[in-house]
Amino acid sequence: MHKRSRKKANQTRDSLADGGRGFRKSLIDWFASNARDYPWRRTHNPYAILVSELMLQQTQIATVLERSFYDRWMKRFPDTKSLAGADENEVLKHWEGLGYYSRARNLHATARIIENDLNGQFPCQAEEIHKLPGVGPYTAGAVASFAFDQAAAIVDGNVARVLSRVFDLREAVDSSTGNRLLWDLARQLMPKRKNAKSREYNSALMELGQTICKRSSPLCATCPVARFCATRDPESLPVKKPRQKTLLLEEDVLFCVHKNSILLEQEKGSRRKGLWKLPALNAEESASRPTQKEKVMLSLKYSITKYRVTLYVHQLQGKASDVSEQGRQWFALAELDQLTLGAPYRRVLENLL
Ligand code: SF4
Repeated sequence: MHKRSRKKANQTRDSLADGGRGFRKSLIDWFASNARDYPWRRTHNPYAILVSELMLQQTQIATVLERSFYDRWMKRFPDTKSLAGADENEVLKHWEGLGYYSRARNLHATARIIENDLNGQFPCQAEEIHKLPGVGPYTAGAVASFAFDQAAAIVDGNVARVLSRVFDLREAVDSSTGNRLLWDLARQLMPKRKNAKSREYNSALMELGQTICKRSSPLCATCPVARFCATRDPESLPVKKPRQKTLLLEEDVLFCVHKNSILLEQEKGSRRKGLWKLPALNAEESASRPTQKEKVMLSLKYSITKYRVTLYVHQLQGKASDVSEQGRQWFALAELDQLTLGAPYRRVLENLL
């Protein structure tokens, strides 16, 4: 090992030999004057924190704030009681635009468990929170730490980046070995005693990843934990497994409007249950495509998991009876705002109506 890097690695190990006190103090001091103000940072309410964590799982902070998803949700469902008593269609409707609707269903189920089985009491230990529907180890730790100041470790994308650089971790962070190493390091760095500011510390660690220890061009010169950091090549970290190939798909749907009504189809499969979409072309309709019965009105692209989908919207020049079949239903155009539609179909309707 190069003399300078050995010295640096030793310094890191020494810093952690004090139980991570110096590392934590540097971070918390920095955070005290650099914390950004988010609505979920103004509360200790575990339900409100869980809502924000689930929304932010697949959606950027800026989108959640700018499009008022969080504020609107909290206004309509301010607590587990109001959410537990709501109808699933209304819950999904309030989640529209965020996608990955299983998060809304899990939140709904969690509210019902808390109200019906736990006397309205939100569990405060990470292990108990982890048992709630759709709550993984990161979310459980985040709620335990941010709401109850429990000494619970967290590892999300930002924390993984910071820790892999501080410890110069060369194991792929998305492999089971790399993931285990990260969680071990995060736990070693956690304050052990009570009232050790775990809420501030975890928030600071995430904020550092968002604003200083960025994916590209990290701001090492202004980093509050630079003296603990072992890596000499931050942009090469974190190491990740080779990316899964994106699969290309084509989807053909119908745009069928007749006398101020539109034909829609219910989504199939449990993940998207309760959602509506433009009807997929059935075999008969597909077969008739070359006869120019329909024409492509619009095409757009969207991504879902590993798929890149090109959506073709066809106009059907037929009567209502041509298209009525199981799972399809006519809705008045005025009713559209009440329905929960997947984001790509909502975009199509905004374009065409
Ligand atoms: S010194 Fe640079 S690489 Fe290390 S934690 Fe700070 S910003 Fe990240």
